Amino acid sequence: MLPTPWDVGPVQIYLIEGDPVTLIDTGVKTPESRAALGAALESLGLGLDDVQRVILTHAHGDHLGQAQTLRDAGADLEVWAHEAEAPMIEFFSVENDERIDETNELFREYGVPEDLLREQSERKRQWMRESPPLCEATRVDRLLRDGEALPFKDFELRVIHAPGHTVGHILLHEPQSGALVTGDHIMGSAVPFTENGYLDGPPDPRDPLGRRPRFKGLSAYLTSLRGLRRTSFSTILPAHGGVLERPDRAIEDALLFYEVRIQRIERGLRTLAAMGKDVTGWEIWKALFPKADPLTQMRTRMLMVIGALDVLEETGTGVTLRRDDGVLLHHHR
Ligand SMILES: [Zn+2]
Repeated sequence: MLPTPWDVGPVQIYLIEGDPVTLIDTGVKTPESRAALGAALESLGLGLDDVQRVILTHAHGDHLGQAQTLRDAGADLEVWAHEAEAPMIEFFSVENDERIDETNELFREYGVPEDLLREQSERKRQWMRESPPLCEATRVDRLLRDGEALPFKDFELRVIHAPGHTVGHILLHEPQSGALVTGDHIMGSAVPFTENGYLDGPPDPRDPLGRRPRFKGLSAYLTSLRGLRRTSFSTILPAHGGVLERPDRAIEDALLFYEVRIQRIERGLRTLAAMGKDVTGWEIWKALFPKADPLTQMRTRMLMVIGALDVLEETGTGVTLRRDDGVLLHHHR
């Protein structure tokens, strides 16, 4: 368990002592986190430089953060991660202006006001200039795919691609003991936000609105979670919130969390449709979270609204149109 500076609390990472010495995730890059990792390894008679392999569940700071730190400490290690997550790991930069601009473009399409986007981006850039980075890019040595078996001396771990929280998030399943390492996909203390962002490539020619291709995190998350109902496992080892002994319940709780929110948005759209009104994603945000501070609480909640609108469109309940200024409008079918 390593400290993080965030509300989510400490991050749980896992060590496989057997051959080869393997860490699943690495903690944020702070002196406190490095000291805690060093002490945990030392209690097992190991040093930072003894780690031979790092498997990353995904590219967020509390998971990827110290992979390069271990290399810098002398560890001759390989980093393994899902092929869809690898670019984020190798080019991770918290000072990446491009990422801020890309997210702003998405929020703009959903009607978030320009002055709010500008003020929020300025704050973020200033915060990044003033605080040391909590995460560092590193080289990925092996690209993992869904269903692959990763051999260890006495057992093997099976890779499950579980997109949603991020595009290339993986779970690691040990069929004999029934343990499932879930990263942030399933947590004991919270339900993860789901990313949403543009992908490379031209717009889908079948989309009459000419939208850029996008990773639709919430839709992918619900599909990944439902898919887990078919996997047999007895214990969840998450990155936050202890060890979960009732995995079925954890899955159903996470599904319910989002289903309730999607239904709430659907009901809102239906009421507006009865009044003959279309709404933007931003108008839905304001109606759902009247007390939230847009400056600090817009981002993850807006990703949820966009994700829910994706799900409603996919299920045929929601319809999306484009206004003359490019902003998307939504209504109930
Ligand atoms: Zn995460």
